[in-house]
Amino acid sequence: QEPICECSDCYGGPDCSQLFPNCTVNANSGDPLFLEPFWVKHAGSSAFLVAGWHRMSYMYSDGSYISQELESHIRKVHAIVGNAITEGRYIAFGVGSTQLLNAAVRALSPRNASSPARVVASIPFYPVYEEQTNLFQSMDFKFEGDTSSWKNNSDVYTDMIEFVTSPNNPDGKLNQAVLEGENVKTIYDHAYYWPHFTPIPTPADGDIMLFSMSKFTGHAGSRFGWAVIKDEAIYQRMIRYSQLNTIGVCRDSQLRALKLLKVVLQQRNDIYEFGYATMMKRWERLSSVISMSERFSLQKIAPNYCNFFQKVRDPSPAYAWLKCEREEDKDCHAVLRAGKIDGREGNRFSAGDRYVRLSLLRRQDDFDLLIQKLNQLVSRKEDGS
Ligand code: PMP
Repeated sequence: QEPICECSDCYGGPDCSQLFPNCTVNANSGDPLFLEPFWVKHAGSSAFLVAGWHRMSYMYSDGSYISQELESHIRKVHAIVGNAITEGRYIAFGVGSTQLLNAAVRALSPRNASSPARVVASIPFYPVYEEQTNLFQSMDFKFEGDTSSWKNNSDVYTDMIEFVTSPNNPDGKLNQAVLEGENVKTIYDHAYYWPHFTPIPTPADGDIMLFSMSKFTGHAGSRFGWAVIKDEAIYQRMIRYSQLNTIGVCRDSQLRALKLLKVVLQQRNDIYEFGYATMMKRWERLSSVISMSERFSLQKIAPNYCNFFQKVRDPSPAYAWLKCEREEDKDCHAVLRAGKIDGREGNRFSAGDRYVRLSLLRRQDDFDLLIQKLNQLVSRKEDGS
């Protein structure tokens, strides 16, 4: 039998209240468990029972692999949040947005061209763009590093595919496309473009926009993402990829996603208010600890007007992009590790060892422990002890 409650890495016991001494806090993975209390509160309405005979087929009754009801709920959510234009656009589903990254790269790449499309992203960038593009080695596309090195350098005869992550993982910035021109195609990764993590200044309107259930409702394990696509031919290519790769997205995941979206819609703005309040408080606490230290600094994020909340709101990013300022702290990850904090190395984001990404979206237990360890690190090292 599966346990009814799950504890954070450093905690155990029947109610997860027992702290393991000397434990290193996990601030590494981007598991969005900060949303767990929201779903505990709505445990009854979000639960569902699936009979053994239900949804056994490969296909829905219309012969597709996509639940039309789920698609229409996704459109409703975007219309309410105002974070993406979906009217007149196609929606493709993916096994997480991870599956859609390469589906989009392939769909935008030329066939049998003399040179492969150059796939680029702006440093610091989410490493999977590079890792996946390299893994799926192809004659049609190749990862070519940092966008800025192609800004004044790209010949108009080679296709360029730019990943634009907005808000960015790791630094939370609302990035915009850097490259322009007939030969440039842009994939907007909006996994974090939700009121929990950022003001929503305007509905996104890119040619290909990727979203994910993982960072929206927190159900990373359900592996459900979607792409909003302007061009029909690109949409067809992307769903062809998903059909050949996994025969679409698991029907049970689609069912669960639908159930969760129904609860989100019934609860009006609750998930956004809960998400924002939680992440904003975390950022405030973290900023106040780091402000006491000259040893570390954080990314600067300015307050911005949010059309969803209809007010200027404070920062509430998913990650802290921490920098070690002291000359001798060249390996910032090791500095934190010595203080019993496990972050993600800056070089994973092609940014260098002075940086570390700290995940702020895990359970409250993890976050409280992170603050405690940072406090110790800051006070210990500042007085030279
Ligand atoms: N894009 C970005 C920027 C991410 O941070 C992540 C998850 N960490 C993903 C895509 C993939 O998310 P998923 O496959 O869970 O939808």
